[in-house]
Amino acid sequence: MLAFYPRFIRTFDDLPGYTSLLIHSWNGCNMRCFGCHNSDELIAKKPDGRHLDGRQVIDRLQGCRSMFEAVLFSGGEFLINEYSEIADCLREVRAVYDGKIIVFTNGTYPRKLQQLFDDKLIDGAHIDMKLPYHALDPAQDREIYEAVIGIAPSETYCKAILESVEIVIRHNSDVSQVRTVRYPILSEHFFDEIRIYVDKLKDKYNSRVPYFINPYHPPYQASTP
Ligand code: SF4
Repeated sequence: MLAFYPRFIRTFDDLPGYTSLLIHSWNGCNMRCFGCHNSDELIAKKPDGRHLDGRQVIDRLQGCRSMFEAVLFSGGEFLINEYSEIADCLREVRAVYDGKIIVFTNGTYPRKLQQLFDDKLIDGAHIDMKLPYHALDPAQDREIYEAVIGIAPSETYCKAILESVEIVIRHNSDVSQVRTVRYPILSEHFFDEIRIYVDKLKDKYNSRVPYFINPYHPPYQASTP
């Protein structure tokens, strides 16, 4: 069942030029990334009764929809949920809200992502390309994977992420993004590899989807007395 974190966030940075409402799904994630800001609250903890269901999210959105030009569905990993549940929820959002609808994804569910575009339930997607998946070997580079995304992925898993990156670039929306966090544990060479890969795909599809390398911000840690 879809669950959402009850605190919605107004943001001006996630989608430049838009005032957006960031909504976190609370259904976990299939990665365990270095410095993840959501790991304590949204991944380690299960929905605990404070969570909202899809109906409650729609009701809240109806009350404030004129204040935002875009709604951003983040996670955890929002696309970890059943496609039918995601689609039903976004269909209801479309019915009450005429701004942009965008999902954030780590890229591991390309079929669902493509279907959301095909069904016109999203206007864009922000996809994280955290590593140069095309240039790494899941077996030989296992330590790098574990350090950055917290798991040792299969080749199929990495191919799925690359497929999602291609889907987003090919779809070519003004409100989509491909993005990378400048993890301090990686050398510049990794970011160069990702940029070259993304630029080649953008050339291939004549795509205007922007690519951003975002600064790494360590997660907040309460100071101990
Ligand atoms: S994909 Fe996102 S939510 Fe999932 S562990 Fe990584 S940073 Fe956290």
